[in-house]
Amino acid sequence: MALKIWINGSLVDESNAKVSVFDHGLLYGDGVFEGIRVYSSKIFELDAHLKRLYESAKVLRLNIGMTPQELTEATVQTVKANNVANGYIRLVVTRGIGSLGINPFNCEKPQIIIIADSIQLYPAELCEAGIRVISACTIRNHPLAIPPQVKSLNYLNNILAKIEALDAGVPEAIMFNHEGFVAEATGDNVFIVKNAVIYAPPIQAGSLEGVTRAVVMRLAKREGIETIEKNLTRFDLYVADELFLTGTAAEVVGVIEIDGRPISGGKPGPVTQLLRKKFFDYAHGRSK
Ligand code: PMP
Repeated sequence: MALKIWINGSLVDESNAKVSVFDHGLLYGDGVFEGIRVYSSKIFELDAHLKRLYESAKVLRLNIGMTPQELTEATVQTVKANNVANGYIRLVVTRGIGSLGINPFNCEKPQIIIIADSIQLYPAELCEAGIRVISACTIRNHPLAIPPQVKSLNYLNNILAKIEALDAGVPEAIMFNHEGFVAEATGDNVFIVKNAVIYAPPIQAGSLEGVTRAVVMRLAKREGIETIEKNLTRFDLYVADELFLTGTAAEVVGVIEIDGRPISGGKPGPVTQLLRKKFFDYAHGRSK
């Protein structure tokens, strides 16, 4: 069935949802976006996603021109119009139509697009079994370039690392920052478990402040598992008892090998498995 796409205030058939070739989102990657889940007919952590969207837009001096409340209503409307009970929402705000120069202030108004689809992002078997990763040579963007906390339409930094992963025959790569500390994966946040304690790189190490990351940290705390944010090195990853990634697409996924070193005996470890289960219980409203 054709999707109904929300674009600049109205829901239109997917074949009529079009953007201009002069849109600076297309010409320069000038814009911001969010990927959001729907679980059991509820939009997952929408407020947190919108907070990040508005903060990213603020950094880019992009005025969304709608209030978070209006954007919430538009998102809910789009999910309903497409009967999405379990699926994925893509919310995109581009700088809008401008001229061929990069000057963003020549763009009249932003373009706002909401897509809601009932899709399964990663094969469930893969996430259940855990994934192999490599460490990427491409470092994460320097914080004085484009701050990694900004979820912008320019994903080339992550895409270069993703290509390294795919070339190596694995689905993900761990990215390091300009100081050599772990930042994040190409589309997920990184955690390790060592001696029953969870460690996560601080956001300042160069990662997006993941919505799933925050939820998983809350759930870990509730389970009485201590979580410490500190800089991690490649050594820490290699000798971790467990390694797992979190993200809207990946949810909670165990890493079973990094750069040819097996982790937790080649299968997701007990803390990873517990948090994966708790995450689904929470996401589907089976636990508060
Ligand atoms: N880092 C990057 C670079 C990402 O693209 C994502 C996915 N949006 C994440 C981390 C995880 O964030 P979230 O849990 O909010 O999806």
